[in-house]
Amino acid sequence: MAVSRREFLRAGAGGTALGTMAALGVNLTPTVARAAELRIANAKAVPTICPYCSVGCGMIAHVIDNRIVNIEGNPDSPVNQGNLCPKGAASYQLAVNPNRITEVLYRAPGGTQWEKKPLDWAMDRIAELYKKTRDETFVEKLPDGKLVNNSLGIFSLGGATMDNEWNYAHSKLMRATGVVAIENQARI
Ligand code: SF4
Repeated sequence: MAVSRREFLRAGAGGTALGTMAALGVNLTPTVARAAELRIANAKAVPTICPYCSVGCGMIAHVIDNRIVNIEGNPDSPVNQGNLCPKGAASYQLAVNPNRITEVLYRAPGGTQWEKKPLDWAMDRIAELYKKTRDETFVEKLPDGKLVNNSLGIFSLGGATMDNEWNYAHSKLMRATGVVAIENQARI
């Protein structure tokens, strides 16, 4: 395709290199499709769900040798039909990231250093402190004798990834232990 210098400068004003090429009538579709094809060539396609929010968009993770090489929207998902919001579209960078923390880090009260701890240790620690706080703040009756059975020393704040079933089970746990301050972030 012959392009004059004037046409090239006019098409390129204010545009990206790709935009410029497209403005000049160059069809980039085969090139882009080929590049994507190469990236996931021989990869195993694993259907999965976006980890960020309870919309639950379907994704396909492409995996080679147990390593994720690409994540994109799943067109078969009735929820998102292949689309992802900007956060979901960036989830590859969440999964494959040298700064991602994959171990429990604990800093003791008053401490200045983070220590690596086993996950079981952290779960037990949370359970112990939860029970201790609940027992210390549990109120069965108000001074006027009114039965309340509550614990105002704990507040529950749920995240956007908690779906209906998880929230149901979580609220059961909270209410069974007397917690009445329960909030949840909806992200829809
Ligand atoms: S809306 Fe965005 S963050 Fe939520 S599940 Fe879908 S892609 Fe993920």
